[in-house]
Amino acid sequence: MKSSEIRSQFLQFFKSKAHKVVPSAPMVLKNDPTLMFTNAGMVPFKEYFLGNKEIKEPRVADTQKCLRVSGKHNDLEEVGMDTYHHTMFEMLGNWSFGDYFKEEAIAWAWEFLTGICKIDKDILYVTIFEGDASDDLDRDTEAYNFWKQHIAEDRILNGNKKDNFWEMGEQGPCGPCSEIHVDIRSAEEKAKASGASLVNQDHPQVVEIWNLVFMQFNRKADGTLEKLPAQHVDTGMGFERLAMVLQGKQSNYDTDVFTPLIREVEAIANSKYGKDEKVDVAIRVISDHVRAVAFSIADGQLPSNTGAGYVIRRILRRAIRYGFTFLSTKEPFIYKLVETLTKQMGDAFPELKKEKNLITNVIKEEEASFLRTLDQGLVLLENIIEQSNEKEISGAKAFELYDTFGFPIDLTSLILRERGFSLNEEEFNVELQKQKDRSRAATKVATGDWVILQDDAVEEFIGYDTLETNVKITRYRKT
Ligand code: ATP
Ligand code: MG
Ligand code: MG
Ligand code: MG
Repeated sequence: MKSSEIRSQFLQFFKSKAHKVVPSAPMVLKNDPTLMFTNAGMVPFKEYFLGNKEIKEPRVADTQKCLRVSGKHNDLEEVGMDTYHHTMFEMLGNWSFGDYFKEEAIAWAWEFLTGICKIDKDILYVTIFEGDASDDLDRDTEAYNFWKQHIAEDRILNGNKKDNFWEMGEQGPCGPCSEIHVDIRSAEEKAKASGASLVNQDHPQVVEIWNLVFMQFNRKADGTLEKLPAQHVDTGMGFERLAMVLQGKQSNYDTDVFTPLIREVEAIANSKYGKDEKVDVAIRVISDHVRAVAFSIADGQLPSNTGAGYVIRRILRRAIRYGFTFLSTKEPFIYKLVETLTKQMGDAFPELKKEKNLITNVIKEEEASFLRTLDQGLVLLENIIEQSNEKEISGAKAFELYDTFGFPIDLTSLILRERGFSLNEEEFNVELQKQKDRSRAATKVATGDWVILQDDAVEEFIGYDTLETNVKITRYRKT
C-alpha cells in the first residue's frame, strides 16, 4: 500500500466510525508560550481536554504534522542514528471528547490494524498500565479485559508509569495509556531472543506504533488525582512507522515516504545508501531534516537567530554538516530536494506547493552562508592542528573557533578525532561557562547588542551565532 493510501485509509476508517476528519493544525505554534512546535496530535485539542473550550465535534480524526526537537519531546539526537525517530513526522489520531472510551478505542485500533491493514496479529503486542502505588492507581484491568477480547493474553504486557501513564504536564488531564508494538524482527532474530520480553526494549525492530491514551483523571495543583467529569480518548500513531510495517520494510527510510528523497540525495551527492553506516546516517539526517525545515517555512517560520527560527536554523545546519562531513557536499544541494518533497507530499499538504519557491530559496541561501562558515573554520582548525605539539587541543582554542567564527564544536571534536587528536572538553566547558556569565552580566547593563527571547523566564543558554556579521548575539529561551 502506498503511503498516501495508508493515510487516506486511516482517515476513511474513522470517518466510517462517525469521526469528523479535520486538517492538520500548523506545526509551528505562534501563540503558545509553553510550546514552540506541535509535538503531538493532542496539542491542537488541549483546550478541549482542559475544559476551556466548548466541544462541538465529539469525534475527530486527523493526521497532524509534529516536530520533536525541543522541550519534553526532543528526538533530535536519535534522528539519523536509528531508523524510526524523525524530527518532523505525521501523527495519525482519533479523538473522543467526552464520547466513546476504552472499549471502542481498543476495538477500532485493532480492527484498523488487523482488519483494514491486515497486519498479522502474531507480530502485535500491547501494553497496559500496571498501576502505581504512589498515586494509589490500580492496574488498568478495564483495558486488559477489552484487549483480551482481541489478542492472546500473553501478548498483553504491563507497562510502568513512565511509558503507560500519560500526563500533559504537572497539572491537568491525564490517564493510563495502552501502546501497540510491532515486532518486525526476522524469524532468525526471534529465535535468538525470547519474543515477548523484548517489547519496550530498545530492539530496533520491536517498534511502538500507536499509543491510546485514556484521559480519565485530572492532576490537581497539590499533586493529587481526581476523576474527570468526562472521559476522553487521545490516540497517536506514527504514520511513517505504520508505512514501514505495511510496506514490509525494516526501516522508515525504506518506505516510499523517504525513498524518493534518498534517491535524490544519492544522485546529487554521488553516493549510495546502504553501503557505509556513516554515509547512511548522513543520508537519513538530510532526508529527514529537509522535511522539518520545509514544513516549518511553509508554516511561516523562517530560519533565524531567535526562538523557533533558531531551532529550524540548527536543524538545517545539522543536515548541512552531515552532508559536508560524510558526503563531501561543498555546494548547496539540500534546496534541490524541495522539488521532490513537494511532488510527494504537496497533495496532502498544499502549503508545500504554495510556498515551494520561498522554501527553496531560503534553504539555498542558508546553505550557502553556512558552507562559507564551515570553509573558514576548517582552515583555522587545520592551523591549530599543525601548530600543536600535543595530541590534545586546548579547550580555549576550540572555544575561540566556536565563539568567534561560529564553527560547531561537535564538528571540531569529530575532525580532531578523525585526525587522531582529542579535545580538552573540560577546558572548553569552562570557557563556555565564563562566556555565559559574561553575557548574563552584560545583559543586565545594556541590551543594545543582545537579543533576548524571554526576559522574565528561567534562562537556558542555547548557543551563539557569529556567522555573517561577527556581531555576537546571545540567545536565551524559556525552559
Ligand atoms: P517512542 O517511545 O518510540 O519514542 P513515544 O512513546 O515517545 O515513542 P508517543 O508520544 O506515544 O511516542 O507518540 C505516539 C506515536 O507517535 C508513537 O507511538 C510513534 O508511533 C510515533 N512517534 C513518536 N515519536 C516519533 C518520532 N520522533 N518520529 C516518528 N514517529 C514518532
Ligand atoms: Mg519518544
Ligand atoms: Mg514510547
Ligand atoms: Mg508512546
